[in-house]
Amino acid sequence: MGIEFISDLSIEKVEASKISNVDFSDLKFGKVFTDHMFFCDFKNGEWQKPRIEPYAPMTMEPSARVFHYGQAVFEGMKAYKDDNGKIFMFRPEQNLDRINKSAARLAMPEFPKDYFFEGLETLLKMDSDWIKPGVGNSLYIRPFVIATEPAISASPAEEYRFIIICSPAQAYYSEPVRVTIAQKYSRSADGGVGFAKAAGNYAAQFYPTKLAQQKGFQQVIWTDANTHEYLEEAGTMNIFFRIDDKLITAPTNDRILDGITRKSLIDIAKDLNIECEVRPIRVDEIKEAARAGRLKEIFGAGTAAVISPVFGFEHDNETFELPKLDETYGSLLKSHLLNIQHNLAEDIHNWRYEVR
Ligand SMILES: *Cc1c(COP(=O)(O)O)cnc(C)c1O
Repeated sequence: MGIEFISDLSIEKVEASKISNVDFSDLKFGKVFTDHMFFCDFKNGEWQKPRIEPYAPMTMEPSARVFHYGQAVFEGMKAYKDDNGKIFMFRPEQNLDRINKSAARLAMPEFPKDYFFEGLETLLKMDSDWIKPGVGNSLYIRPFVIATEPAISASPAEEYRFIIICSPAQAYYSEPVRVTIAQKYSRSADGGVGFAKAAGNYAAQFYPTKLAQQKGFQQVIWTDANTHEYLEEAGTMNIFFRIDDKLITAPTNDRILDGITRKSLIDIAKDLNIECEVRPIRVDEIKEAARAGRLKEIFGAGTAAVISPVFGFEHDNETFELPKLDETYGSLLKSHLLNIQHNLAEDIHNWRYEVR
């Protein structure tokens, strides 16, 4: 990929790995972290020497701006191991591009590509025992950037920390969920930060999601903030609908996150000769299709769960059930994507990135 590696990365290894304390057959998502973390501070207008150290608590002043103004962005990506022990990532340059777009929107500095790849690949090699082979097993990678400058004036910070932590993740089969279509709350608005992976987008969606859960719906399908007439995202995932034999997903804009899973599924659908339209989708269209028995599937798409099927939805106090199909586009697309990610299928789009 032609990345020039810098070598001012300083490394401090753990004395003893904590891996033997971890039950890999019973992992809860995002609860256990590997032995090491990568971080790099931004000070005096530039990124300082990057470091890998044992995963440990960090100290920060209570006045650090991230605590007050939420200047924080993050990414979610995965590493996979094949049966020969080779380690792969999936389109990682897309995650770097996106964290830098998110950072720019929150007036934060962009992170250099050479630091990112050298830091991340070194970290993965040091913690490679934590990546288990087998389809569905992976190491979830969480890069994030926070404003660390101790100063509570309401302006962008002059100091930041870029950090990568990693958490082993198990193959999990997301149970189909029931969802409610948003009519009051919004995840994002025109001109806002919906396209960015800004920490605050998540905080803002916890409360409406909690209300939905109290009514028996696991997730909220977000609609456009102006009219609530167009379907945009499912919880923290992009969303696909299947009407008859055609997939439909909303076009990305400044309210919708440009998901790497979403764009990869659009390409895989093309490869499989499944028609996939990218266009605005009206709530009414979905309800009509459901009434006519033409709405076959709804699923969310994102790195963590890959595909998360929906079996029913609610709108305006009316509930709809989807048919139970033996073969779904959701599971077909998911297995194609997983096979590419795990080095079990040909990689015609050049998406795999081997960590050497
Ligand atoms: C991260 C995220 C997604 C999915 O993006 P992937 O790159 O596929 O993981 C979708 N929507 C929102 C709001 C997200 O934060």
